[in-house]
Amino acid sequence: MKNAQCKKCLNKFNEKDIYTIQQFQYRKNPPYEWTKEFFITLKIGEWDSFCEKCITEYAKISNKTWKNDVN
Ligand SMILES: [Zn+2]
Repeated sequence: MKNAQCKKCLNKFNEKDIYTIQQFQYRKNPPYEWTKEFFITLKIGEWDSFCEKCITEYAKISNKTWKNDVN
């Protein structure tokens, strides 16, 4: 049953396929504390649901921003 909704693209999908920014705590870089701050500026919290496509996009965006911050 497709009863979950992606906050970004608004597509409906299965609850078991929900992704949140919490999965980014397993990345080595950027650090999760930085990641949380970054997503707060985008008004995204740790409990917001996203589909795989959108979370992958956010992974890339946050990575790129972090690299630009550091350099
Ligand atoms: Zn989405």
